[in-house]
Amino acid sequence: MSQPTIESILKEKRLFPPSAEFSQTAHIKHLDEYQKLYERAAADPEQFWAELAESELHWFKKWDRVLDWQPPNAQWFLGGQLNISYNCLDRHLTTWRKNKAALIWEGEPGDSRTLTYAQLHREVCQMANVIKQLGVQKGDRVGIYMPMIPEAAIAMLACARIGAPHTVVFGGFSAEALRDRLVDAEAKLVITADGGFRKDAAIPLKIQVDKALEHGVSSVDNVLVVKRTGEKTHMEPGRDHWWHDLQAGVSGHCDAEVMDSEDMLFILYTSGTTGKPKGVVHTTGGYNLYTHVTNKWAFDLQDTDVYWCTADVGWITGHSYIVYGPLSNGATTVMYEGAPRSSNPGCFWDVVEKYGVTIFYTAPTAIRAFIKMGEHHPKARDLSSLRLLGTVGEPINPEAWIWYHRVIGGERCPIVDTWWQTETGGFMITPLPGATPTKPGSATMPFPGILADVVDLDGNSVGENQGGYLVVKHPWPGMMRTVYGDPDRFRRTYWEHIPPKDGQYLYFAGDGARRDETGYYWVMGRVDDVISVSGHRLGTMEIESALVSHPSVAEAAVVGKPDELRGEAVVAFVSLEDGYQGSEDLENQLKEHVVSEIGALARPAEIRFTDDLPKTRSGKIMRRLLRSLASGEEISGDTSTLQDRSVLDKLREGA
Ligand code: ATP
Ligand code: MG
Repeated sequence: MSQPTIESILKEKRLFPPSAEFSQTAHIKHLDEYQKLYERAAADPEQFWAELAESELHWFKKWDRVLDWQPPNAQWFLGGQLNISYNCLDRHLTTWRKNKAALIWEGEPGDSRTLTYAQLHREVCQMANVIKQLGVQKGDRVGIYMPMIPEAAIAMLACARIGAPHTVVFGGFSAEALRDRLVDAEAKLVITADGGFRKDAAIPLKIQVDKALEHGVSSVDNVLVVKRTGEKTHMEPGRDHWWHDLQAGVSGHCDAEVMDSEDMLFILYTSGTTGKPKGVVHTTGGYNLYTHVTNKWAFDLQDTDVYWCTADVGWITGHSYIVYGPLSNGATTVMYEGAPRSSNPGCFWDVVEKYGVTIFYTAPTAIRAFIKMGEHHPKARDLSSLRLLGTVGEPINPEAWIWYHRVIGGERCPIVDTWWQTETGGFMITPLPGATPTKPGSATMPFPGILADVVDLDGNSVGENQGGYLVVKHPWPGMMRTVYGDPDRFRRTYWEHIPPKDGQYLYFAGDGARRDETGYYWVMGRVDDVISVSGHRLGTMEIESALVSHPSVAEAAVVGKPDELRGEAVVAFVSLEDGYQGSEDLENQLKEHVVSEIGALARPAEIRFTDDLPKTRSGKIMRRLLRSLASGEEISGDTSTLQDRSVLDKLREGA
């Protein structure tokens, strides 16, 4: 008997084809072209990826075998040798790109720096030499705990250059979170800064490193400190070193280490939206190829582009699409230190105007914040340089998509809604902007070479427009290789929820989705968050989107709470747009709005107004905490990646 799936209730039908002007110059110009690529890749994925590996990357030695697949362990390009820092830097130096801007950086106080490929190469080599002097060898792990300054990218590339896997820990994390990750990764060196600027304040970082190392992390011998804020900083003799001291006089040449394709490139911990973060391991060859090709096609990277991804380098988005993907392509990548803040809510649009940004990539949580701040901020700037927009991190509510399209994109820019995960290394389901007509709220179709499906718990494909579990049926080059130090957790988390189907292993993403009658995928939220009302299992995203389509609602999160009659009842946490007040009347209006948008089944039993929702530090709503709140339980489970604890306290008081 087939297992219950998830029901779909959303009725979004709007369609936005790419303009002829956009398609004309795009890498992939037409839906037919996408379909041909897709079919060719599906028929022989190994051949497809091997051809791209040959044409897109520089290899010191070609591989002997494209894929070794012993589920759940995949190895790509066996016997091949390369270095991702070489592909991101050295190979551009023999072309005209040598003096092209590689990295444009804007600091929050208004200072800025542009590094050409030649300059970036030099600094990376210098840092690589310094790291070696500090005793780090190929295979040793290095912790990176940095603000958003060029040295964050330089440190990553320097580690990659000498074959020392990095583990970047988001600079907003506490000393304990940093310590946990340094211990888990057994890092030998930590690269940090005195601090960084965020929301009009100098945020100290080195002090957190000191705390993390207070009782000793036995593996860590040295700390390399970049001067950014100039705050008074304690330097532990024998352990701590200023970067500018060691940089002075060090050589700007450092050969890139010859790495095997499957040598570990980095460990990165997931955001912790659903539980204890997992130390995701990525390796060299497959990751380099996958981020390169996905970035090139889905963002249509051209040499004239100024590409800006607003993520932090502490997340996978920053790894794949601020640093490795764009630089491997020889693109110009923008990095911004700060965040929208009350003193300048329009600072992002200032950056777009100042540098003539052409491609802009951000998250739904940021878009919903822009909506709340008001469209007069972007309207007051010249955004006409933009030609393409992207979104990642959560399902985007169709109304937020439409706002992004209208206000930021001037109704002219395609939007690529990219579905992917830390685990997948790069985009999995995404439009190719010159080819794929888009639908608000849908990530559209799988990238060529990605064999996705929506299945029930037995692994059977579900029908059109029926919800189920999003899976991937064939390995791809950018996939994670394991959970660091815990291969068992790797197997349990991703490969055992759904049994192999006809001998084929299915990668379980943990997200619910449906595929519509045109083959488009709609991600419906996390399967852990599914709500079961009177035997109907509903994803969170569709009810939330109905709420967000009401003019008063800025952001919404729905969860289930136990209900004797119906199994679960829908509870909605709603934050309102400026100028609206929570009231019984509005509560009733919103309930009726959900009923008229999607039906009586989804009617919220309760609506709680709140200024803020609990989010991870990467901006995702943590529904598992709201679920505990709604049912009056103690909050348990991992909360180490929560952005702001006071949000929970306020919600508790309001209850
Ligand atoms: P953890 O795995 O520790 O709970 P996390 O899942 O938030 O944390 P990430 O790898 O940063 O860690 O996020 C990946 C998840 O983000 C996806 O599984 C999906 O739920 C969500 N997501 C990302 N992009 C999209 C998108 N375009 N549409 C819908 N959901 C998305
Ligand atoms: Mg996850």
